[in-house]
Amino acid sequence: MRAYILDEMIHPEVAALLPKVQLAVVPVGSCEQHGPNTTYNTDTARAYAFCKLLGEHYGEKLLICPPVTYGISIHHMAFAGTVTLRPETYIELLKDIAIALHKHGIPRILFVNGHGGNASSLNVAVHALKYAHGIDAYYTGMGFGVFDDAVTPEMGWSEKRGHASESETSQCMVLCPEVVREELHKGEVVEDFIIRGKNAPFRYGGMAFQWERDASANGALGDARLANPEDGRRLNDLALERVERTIDYILSHF
Ligand SMILES: [Zn+2]
Repeated sequence: MRAYILDEMIHPEVAALLPKVQLAVVPVGSCEQHGPNTTYNTDTARAYAFCKLLGEHYGEKLLICPPVTYGISIHHMAFAGTVTLRPETYIELLKDIAIALHKHGIPRILFVNGHGGNASSLNVAVHALKYAHGIDAYYTGMGFGVFDDAVTPEMGWSEKRGHASESETSQCMVLCPEVVREELHKGEVVEDFIIRGKNAPFRYGGMAFQWERDASANGALGDARLANPEDGRRLNDLALERVERTIDYILSHF
C-alpha cells in the first residue's frame, strides 16, 4: 500500500485524507552520539524509516508525521555534539505536537520511539494528554528493546549490547544504511557496566547515569563489527510484527 507521509504532501491532499486517518504516527529520535559506528541521526532515521514501513502496511488509516529529531540525551552529554532537551521541554513538545494533530481531527496519536532515553518522558506525556487534554496518545519502542529476546546464542553477539552495538547497527543496515560508517568498532564497555542485565544494581529502579563512566568509554556497547543486514532484516521484521500488533489493538479497542 501507499504510505501517507505528511512531509511529502500538500494541504489539499492532507484535507482529503484526514477523514480517513485513524492514527497519527510520530517518530521520535535523538541527536546523540553513537560511538564511532553510526551518526547522530541514528535513532531519528531508524524510527522514521520504520514508521514509513508501518505506513505502507496500513495505507490511509495512518498519517506518518515528521520525526522529532531531539530527545533526552543528558547521559551522553560528555560526547562532543550531543544535544539534549530537558525532560520538561520535551514533554511539552510532545504534547504540543499531539494537540495540533488532534485539532485537525485525528483521533489518536502514537509516538514510535527510536531512543530508550525518551521513554520515561513519553510515558508522562501520554498520561498528561489523556487526563489533562482528553487526547488518546500512546507510545511504543521499535528498536533492540523490542526484538532483543530473539537474539540467539548461535549468533555470537555480545552480552552487553544495545546502543551503537551489533543489534542497533544491524537494524540500521536495513532501515537507514546511510547512517552506518564503513569501519565499525567494538564498544569500550566499562567492566562493571551497570545499566542493564540480570545483575544490574538498578534493575528494579533507576539512577542518573553517565554513559562515558557507567557504560562505555567510546560511546558504543557490544561489538558493531558483528552487525549484518541478514540478522537486521529478521529482527526488524519481528519488531514490525510486534508494533503492528500494538497498532491493531489501538485501532480495534479505542
Ligand atoms: Zn540509538
